[in-house]
Amino acid sequence: MKISDMPRKKLGFFPTPLHKLENLTKYFGGPQIYIKRDDMTGLAFGGNKTRKLEFLIGDALANNCDCVITGGAAQSNHCRQTAAAAAMSGLECHLALRGEETNEYAGNLLLDKLFNAKIHWSTEFRKGENIPLIAQQLMMEGKRPYIIPYGGSNKVGALGYVEAVKEIQLQMKEMNLNISSIVFASSSGGTHAGLIAGKSLYNCETKVIGVQIDKGEAGDKPYDLHIADLANELSEEFEIEKTFTLNDVILRDEFIENDYGVVGELERRAIKLLAEKEGLLIDPVYTGRVFGGLIRMIEQKEFSNDENILFWHTGGTPALFSYSSELI
Ligand SMILES: *Cc1c(COP(=O)(O)O)cnc(C)c1O
Repeated sequence: MKISDMPRKKLGFFPTPLHKLENLTKYFGGPQIYIKRDDMTGLAFGGNKTRKLEFLIGDALANNCDCVITGGAAQSNHCRQTAAAAAMSGLECHLALRGEETNEYAGNLLLDKLFNAKIHWSTEFRKGENIPLIAQQLMMEGKRPYIIPYGGSNKVGALGYVEAVKEIQLQMKEMNLNISSIVFASSSGGTHAGLIAGKSLYNCETKVIGVQIDKGEAGDKPYDLHIADLANELSEEFEIEKTFTLNDVILRDEFIENDYGVVGELERRAIKLLAEKEGLLIDPVYTGRVFGGLIRMIEQKEFSNDENILFWHTGGTPALFSYSSELI
């Protein structure tokens, strides 16, 4: 199957900007720090799920589905972007969210409500464990649900980041810029698998460094294996001629100092530094942890001063508004 033959629904504005962080580069005295602005995809405050949803919603529409179901944490960025994408596409949206019924809507949860998503409170489950049950109920009501897994991380969703490699390669060429390493948040794995598969498909030499966000395992296997397996699913279905192994997956787990969604000193310092030096916002759960890790890597002299490195901003900023007490 050719990727260009896959159904796709336009949901965002691409290419997203790529620019230099001049003040931070000066502040650290090198490496040369660049940023890719997937917080600016344009869909409901942006984020990395927009790229995945272009393929997932495209597939839902091609299959004549009339509603979508997905799931996540109460402050899930993925669920918020899915709810917006569904509204744009005339699809009903069902979300399985961690937690109990509440009257307090802040951050992403407020946006879910504004997009008229139907929320199914799922107690302790934060990875969409209830999705099959909700799908069954909807089918009994005569609906045609389309299931989007946790994080949109299956081979259809991951195509968004295969194609993102093509996008950034063109930008590097236009800017006459050679990026040696990309650093980004890796959680449900679709972004990471897409990037390594895209590297192979589009012959991109840039090193791809995922910063692990969650403790523990991805379901029944370690995260790195889950990512390699997903990349292999992509290469089996699409024109990517490579078998991926654990050697292809760089996943740094040493910056997980707190549980998922818990802000510590690492995240707080990163969020404040970017805000104060660049007037730029990153989020408490994902990009704050990644940039905190990147600061450590820079301070440990992992990069040379003239090297160009790129922080891929994957979005998440609406969650800031539900973390005020932890941030100041
Ligand atoms: C979902 C998300 C990620 C992680 O992407 P995965 O493809 O799930 O690994 C990173 N950053 C933000 C802001 C996200 O919402």
